[in-house]
Amino acid sequence: MTELVDTTTELLQQLIRNACVNDGTVESGHEIRSVDLLHGFLEGSGLDIQRYEPVDGRGSLVARIPGTNPNAPSVCLMGHTDVVPVNPDSWDHDPFGGELIDGEVWGRGAIDMLNLTSSMAVAFRNLATTGYRPRGDLLYFAVADEEAGGDWGAKWMLDNEHDAVMADYVLTEMGGFGFNHDSGRSVLINIAEKGAGGARLTVRGTPGHGSMPLDADNALLKAAEVLRRLGQYRPAPQFDDLWTGLLDALGLEGDIRAALLDPERVWDTASSMGELGGKMLHACSHMSISPNIVHGGQKINVIPDAVHIDVDIRTLPGQNADYVRHQLTEAIGDLAEHVEIEMLNDREASRSSQNTPMWSAIERAVHAAEPTARVHPGLIVGGTDARHYRPHGSTVYGAGIFSPDIDMADFGTRFHGNNERIDLESLRLVTKFWDHIIRGFDEMAVQDAG
Ligand SMILES: [Zn+2]
Repeated sequence: MTELVDTTTELLQQLIRNACVNDGTVESGHEIRSVDLLHGFLEGSGLDIQRYEPVDGRGSLVARIPGTNPNAPSVCLMGHTDVVPVNPDSWDHDPFGGELIDGEVWGRGAIDMLNLTSSMAVAFRNLATTGYRPRGDLLYFAVADEEAGGDWGAKWMLDNEHDAVMADYVLTEMGGFGFNHDSGRSVLINIAEKGAGGARLTVRGTPGHGSMPLDADNALLKAAEVLRRLGQYRPAPQFDDLWTGLLDALGLEGDIRAALLDPERVWDTASSMGELGGKMLHACSHMSISPNIVHGGQKINVIPDAVHIDVDIRTLPGQNADYVRHQLTEAIGDLAEHVEIEMLNDREASRSSQNTPMWSAIERAVHAAEPTARVHPGLIVGGTDARHYRPHGSTVYGAGIFSPDIDMADFGTRFHGNNERIDLESLRLVTKFWDHIIRGFDEMAVQDAG
């Protein structure tokens, strides 16, 4: 497979140089550049290739290898082509140069997620050109606009071109992180994603003249107390199989594990565990509350009668809008009668079953790369396009694999950060990984049928 990793490397470099930067505006992204690139790359391999462009420049591409059995489950490899903006001054190399330096490809998107988008395309084309016929349809979906929520990408395609992109199984970012610990090595494959139950709190007061503030019913002062209470509030932890799976993956045993499974101690224990690890552990075990925007007051001599607080709230599987509202009310306590709560969105958490033949195929593919690694199901605390597919009934996994040289801390600092880059060994492993999964998934189905 030496030549395949070279192809992945080259394609990744070109995708980085296309600089499909998504700043959240509809005019940004320009993913059509990478649709052109991938179209050229896949063309000529006898594949059915379709392009979509809901608005100017926001292109997505779908290629399909028809399955031999129309009743067999379909599989989609989905990679987004857009990337987040950069601050080039903080980089050691051109963020859109796609340079290969000391065995690493540098550039925005090298780990989020052009490494996967490119390797999926290479594995997919290789299957097609070598005459591989999957049992069910196999799709490659290069999708726009993931970084701004998918309105011009996955969401738009599922709403408007459902049949073109629908699949029983979808593999996408983010997963495959490896952890070394005393009892061996673990790899995390994500099967779930937190929800976003953002809320706008409107704190009411009584307007008056700023020259006579004695005993004023000042909405801003009340809001300050509301914010203080939100900051101090500790929602109850949720210890489910995803939580224990994460503790297993991290190899956390003994006292620390006991503390992280104790509702009274989990918060302070996470807090004591340092920057990245502690934040992640806290987010994976709790609904999170982060008041991020405040608007209030109109004129310096007027006592404000209303203050709006926008709160970013991330929920665990099973925590719905009612739960969020109840938690906020409890946090605000006796000030609740002065506060209106409006849910800004109530996207619930989503999760897929781990009990599927695809999970087994992923496990086998991980073992092909790392024979002794154990594979654990995990939870993504942010958002990916997986959330658009799950409500349609697809089983979606955040998958991937990295060389042992990249640990979670590296990933964390490079993800949307400076000096994003990926090593060639990771590209080699992940290109093989998709191939192993597809073939393994079909082999298992044949065994089951036999
Ligand atoms: Zn991404």
